[in-house]
Amino acid sequence: MPLPQAFIPTVPLLRLRCPRSHARRRSRSRTSYLMTASPQSQTPSPRLEAFLNSSEEGNPFLGLQRADAAFAALKSRTRTPPKSPPFVQTFPTAVRASNDAPHFDVLVAGGTLGVFYATALQARGWRVAVVERGPLVGRTQEWNISRDELQALVVNSVLSEDQLAKIIVTEFTEPGRIGFASQEGEQRELGASGVLNIGVAPDKLVAMAKDNFERIGGVVMEFCKVEQVEVGPDAVKISVGKRKNLTVSGSLGAGGVGLIGTEEGGEDMSVSARVLVDAMGAFSPIAAQARNFRKPDGVCITVGSCMTGDWPANETGDLIYSFQPIDKRRSAQYFWEAFPVGREKAARTTYMFTYGPCAEGRQSLTEALEDYLEYLPTYQGIRMEEMALKRVLFGFFPSYYRDSPTDVKFDRILSVGDAGGLQSPISFGGFGCCLRHLSRISGALDEALRIKNDSLLSKEKLQTLQWYLPSLSVSGLFNRAMSVQPGQTTAGPLLDEFGINEVLWSNMKAMSDLGEDVQRPFLQDIVTAGGLTKTLASMAIRNPVLAIKMTPFLGPSELISWSGHFFALISYSFAIPALLGVRSLLERTSVLSDTQRFLLNRMIDTAIYGSGKDAEIHFNTRS
Ligand SMILES: Cc1cc2nc3c(=O)[nH]c(=O)nc-3n(C[C@H](O)[C@H](O)[C@H](O)COP(=O)(O)OP(=O)(O)OC[C@H]3O[C@@H](n4cnc5c(N)ncnc54)[C@H](O)[C@@H]3O)c2cc1C
Repeated sequence: MPLPQAFIPTVPLLRLRCPRSHARRRSRSRTSYLMTASPQSQTPSPRLEAFLNSSEEGNPFLGLQRADAAFAALKSRTRTPPKSPPFVQTFPTAVRASNDAPHFDVLVAGGTLGVFYATALQARGWRVAVVERGPLVGRTQEWNISRDELQALVVNSVLSEDQLAKIIVTEFTEPGRIGFASQEGEQRELGASGVLNIGVAPDKLVAMAKDNFERIGGVVMEFCKVEQVEVGPDAVKISVGKRKNLTVSGSLGAGGVGLIGTEEGGEDMSVSARVLVDAMGAFSPIAAQARNFRKPDGVCITVGSCMTGDWPANETGDLIYSFQPIDKRRSAQYFWEAFPVGREKAARTTYMFTYGPCAEGRQSLTEALEDYLEYLPTYQGIRMEEMALKRVLFGFFPSYYRDSPTDVKFDRILSVGDAGGLQSPISFGGFGCCLRHLSRISGALDEALRIKNDSLLSKEKLQTLQWYLPSLSVSGLFNRAMSVQPGQTTAGPLLDEFGINEVLWSNMKAMSDLGEDVQRPFLQDIVTAGGLTKTLASMAIRNPVLAIKMTPFLGPSELISWSGHFFALISYSFAIPALLGVRSLLERTSVLSDTQRFLLNRMIDTAIYGSGKDAEIHFNTRS
């Protein structure tokens, strides 16, 4: 089938017009879809049911039901009363039962990203155990990442250089495409290089990390669910419920709903350690308790699939693509992503995602998948009946951008990965985020563990690893600017249904024109003081009215708090040279105690990561 012109991957800055036939085809299929849709339905239409059942992998029908039930529960949650007894309890007296029970320096709860932290710490000489409620397997769906970022796995002894080469299963032709539709029917596009340009296989990566971890003495406890945590002055102790006959299906890692067929019944046990690293994902019970069970500030609904077939173009990826206005029926602005999969590029993964509040009026994942099936042929220029489905993807990503990273509320416990809340509220690229923070966090934990009396494992000292990062907080506004509230049909009173596209295009175009040093860090989830200042200035000069029109859509309180984060972002970048100067001076005079050195190092880390200067470490860029 010939590829419609608007969807041919393009060279940077190419501007195309949406062919009329597209608009016609879209509106025809929309009408037919409207007849079958029902508000917030969790019952798949016959077409969606057939699609789900044609999946080569897993049991997406069941997984989708579970994911939708979990999403509905989150949306309707006011503030779940704390469990009795709470998941984490603190005691003034010793919690270790006897010296015979297993005891480690570090326990890592949750094994996806947790195994990377575990290996990094074991390699630094600590005795580490990973406790995972299911099998430690990662997942089959590729993680898209930028090549430079993977080096963190080698630096932290998680993989060797040779192993690194083996986990890269796809390399995309560059540049990746970015595109936004306008009210006038124009599909504006530009390119970006060096960003999300490879796909790695999480299952291979996790298997290799697990092997390496065990080879250097690490302990893996699979089918062991952490059920309770007790913190005392001597240790942190976890109660583990052993499980058996567990099979994996559905969306592993997405919303914690991927475990099906769980059968309790093994014996229970307890294990203790000096510190517990919580890597139990976005729905970690520890992180939920630390946040006092509050609702997320926003949720990104993501649905997609990986299919083989006659893809008209499958060499390159779409980093973010929008060809539709706000969907008035759903109150949703849909964005799309697409990536080739595998060395032969026979398969392609496509995602459709939409941002909004965690409110009951939000659509279900089932409805999002119905829309995905409706619009995918237009987006990619394919005929669904000619494609073969490998797997279905769906999930909802909660974002707590108003108070991320997750505060440390308990002695001896640190949340990392999605539980730690460091991932971007725009991309939710938790794997990439883990790689950027792996050296910082494992280095700081190593420093804390070296102090034998555990004084650096108190909640106050561990909080220094999770101090406020303006570079993360400023991203919250971008999440908000891409979000549509239930009932909204335009981007506020002054912008139309293409308003979000307009703002994003203006932003992306400004960054692209400013060059790779500005564009790349942002697309790789790092907001830098210099890059953001230049981008905002450029946007204001080109289209001063747009910023004013956006104000009522975002709301004054959101803008005021964002201005504070922006000011902090700039201040942090100015603080770095001063802090580095103080450290080199004090280190020469040897007056620093261990605790003072630890605190000064955390201040420097925070200034670097909080100002986005870490982009220079990861990507060798300057802005
Ligand atoms: C469809 C999809 C596509 C994605 N694509 C990308 C991408 O391209 N690039 C990228 O960077 N990121 C991507 N992500 C995000 C990435 O997968 C997550 O950020 C990452 O998996 C988070 O890892 P985690 O270990 O923090 O949490 P999870 O992956 O949720 O893992 C948590 C682990 O903890 C275990 N666990 C939970 N509770 C307990 C308990 N009580 N006891 C013991 N164990 C427990 C779970 O079984 C699980 O193994 C994608 C996510 C999805 C859903």
